[in-house]
Amino acid sequence: MQSYNPEQALWETRREFGEHGGVTPSIERSSTFTVMDPAIMPEIFEGLRGPEKGGCFLYSRHFNPTVDVLARYMAAIEGTEAAVCTASGMAAIACTLLQICEGGDHIVSSDTVYGGTHAFLSELLPEMNITTSFVEPTDPAAFAAAVQPNTRVIYTETVGNPTLKVADIPRLVELARRKGLLLVVDNTFSPMMISPARLGADVVVYSMTKFINGASDLIAGAICTRKEFVYQLMDLHRGRVMLLGPTMDPRIAYDLIQRLPHLALRMRGHSARALAIAERLYALGVPVTYPGLPSHPQYGLITTIMNAGYGYGGVLTIDCGTREKAEKLMSILQNEERFGLIAVSLGYFDTLMSCSSSSTSSEIAPEAQHKMGLSPGLVRISVGYTGSPEVRLEQIERSVKAVGLVKN
Ligand SMILES: *Cc1c(COP(=O)(O)O)cnc(C)c1O
Repeated sequence: MQSYNPEQALWETRREFGEHGGVTPSIERSSTFTVMDPAIMPEIFEGLRGPEKGGCFLYSRHFNPTVDVLARYMAAIEGTEAAVCTASGMAAIACTLLQICEGGDHIVSSDTVYGGTHAFLSELLPEMNITTSFVEPTDPAAFAAAVQPNTRVIYTETVGNPTLKVADIPRLVELARRKGLLLVVDNTFSPMMISPARLGADVVVYSMTKFINGASDLIAGAICTRKEFVYQLMDLHRGRVMLLGPTMDPRIAYDLIQRLPHLALRMRGHSARALAIAERLYALGVPVTYPGLPSHPQYGLITTIMNAGYGYGGVLTIDCGTREKAEKLMSILQNEERFGLIAVSLGYFDTLMSCSSSSTSSEIAPEAQHKMGLSPGLVRISVGYTGSPEVRLEQIERSVKAVGLVKN
């Protein structure tokens, strides 16, 4: 499979300089924009003029020049025609699905999705008469079997949260094309590493809160897709981003613009540390899951679909069996070893640890958690790149031994 080079694509896209020749872009903090001739205003409303048609901006809930720069950079990274930035990852997911689906429509989704997404699909959308069938993400035949005459969307995460199951994107693309459906992929866990749109996905959604930002200091999302879908999302009459209004602030866009150039370095750093820790834990006989271990069920698949040079990502899990043991492990790792922080989220430069079942996946009912293979003792670790790698290995080894996860 042909590997995409997101770093090169980002470098090749038109670079934005500041108003006075600054090496950083200017922040356009205006909510509204002046037109030189009153006749231009109606033309903007008629869609005859816009950011790409005469450089006309209207109002910052529609398009904003600084947010547009970030959108252009995200489209380059993803290899899509265009992108829209949103105030959060959930806004990107919700607006995308609400744009595609109407009352009476149906979605086939992986059962291994972020807790908020699961709640949106299983609890909120049914109130609008949009229903979802949840299936095992690693089984393309299960997706095919769940398609109904009213199905509009296939939804999956590239690397599922938190069980790290890897979706077979090329086969889901093939299924979506054969059935005339749209494939929407949440690529939050694997930016740069995997390029779902290059593999044929129709829409790639992101929580930019995580790896893309990398500093755990803001909430943001993106929708990377074809130009036509971007214009639908921003349509003045029916656009879900335009009318529901999860607008990204230009100051947030600026922060993200300044973090994209080192995203590739950070992904490599996360991946290298996570692989070393996963290999050490595996050698000790600890129940560790990491897509870069040959023992991972989709190791062969991910190796064929990923872009060269970014590794297997920054997230691994340890199954401690019970919630008590999981809490003991995290407590030792944070309070005795100072290995990481007990906090939800991921993609920070420091290590973040949480027990998914009772935190970020607690929206998912216990039976559904069991079905998707989510153990109550599963500790999700987003591996940071601070501190000495050797000392980190010693810290985690002492901790897993202290809670009895090493059998000898
Ligand atoms: C965090 C997360 C989201 C939600 O993103 P927000 O920016 O918090 O709204 C969606 N999908 C995945 C996989 C996530 O990890």
